[in-house]
Amino acid sequence: MPEDPSLPPLVGVLALQGDVREHRAALEAAGARTAGVRTAAELDEVDALAIPGGESTTLSRLIRAFGLEEPLRRRLAEGLPCLATCAGMILLSRRILDGRPEQLALGALDLDVRRNGYGRQVDSFEAALEVPELGEPAFPGVFIRAPVVERVGEGVTVLARHEGRPVALADGRHLALAFHPEISGDGRFHRHFVEPLCSNSRSAR
Ligand code: GLN
Repeated sequence: MPEDPSLPPLVGVLALQGDVREHRAALEAAGARTAGVRTAAELDEVDALAIPGGESTTLSRLIRAFGLEEPLRRRLAEGLPCLATCAGMILLSRRILDGRPEQLALGALDLDVRRNGYGRQVDSFEAALEVPELGEPAFPGVFIRAPVVERVGEGVTVLARHEGRPVALADGRHLALAFHPEISGDGRFHRHFVEPLCSNSRSAR
């Protein structure tokens, strides 16, 4: 467990699928230490977790195949801070519309999402997002078969919208983004996630 409290927080990146390397680079640039997470033992070591995008059905299968479902549920219930992007946001949500019956909704963040709600791969797009918490300039949102947020629970704050729909949400522990900040070349959302960890996470363990 935490060795030296003066060390930067250790942020795990679920390394089963998706932009693991890009997330690690962005988190490290934001001041965190990072580690790939594939096992329950690795999950136990981290102060926070990033769940990359990919395919939420495949990620669900891999999480089960790697024996990570119960450990993930347990650590999330303990309050593990989590950055979840795209398919990661689907995994973290409470209810998945247009999902597969067997796919995982870990329920850590009080959201309902519609999988592929923006349409098919050809409907992927980029949009400049106004994010008051990040200030200027607008954040370059890269949406790749993104989920649409259909319900936002009480206690969840909408940080950004695109055409009226919430695309960036937070509840104090979790930061969920419908888009892919790791390939945008803009590190502000990763910093927004890492900076509070530097003071909070270690003292919370
Ligand atoms: N459409 C994917 C899914 O259903 C998510 C896409 C992504 O993560 N870029 O999981």
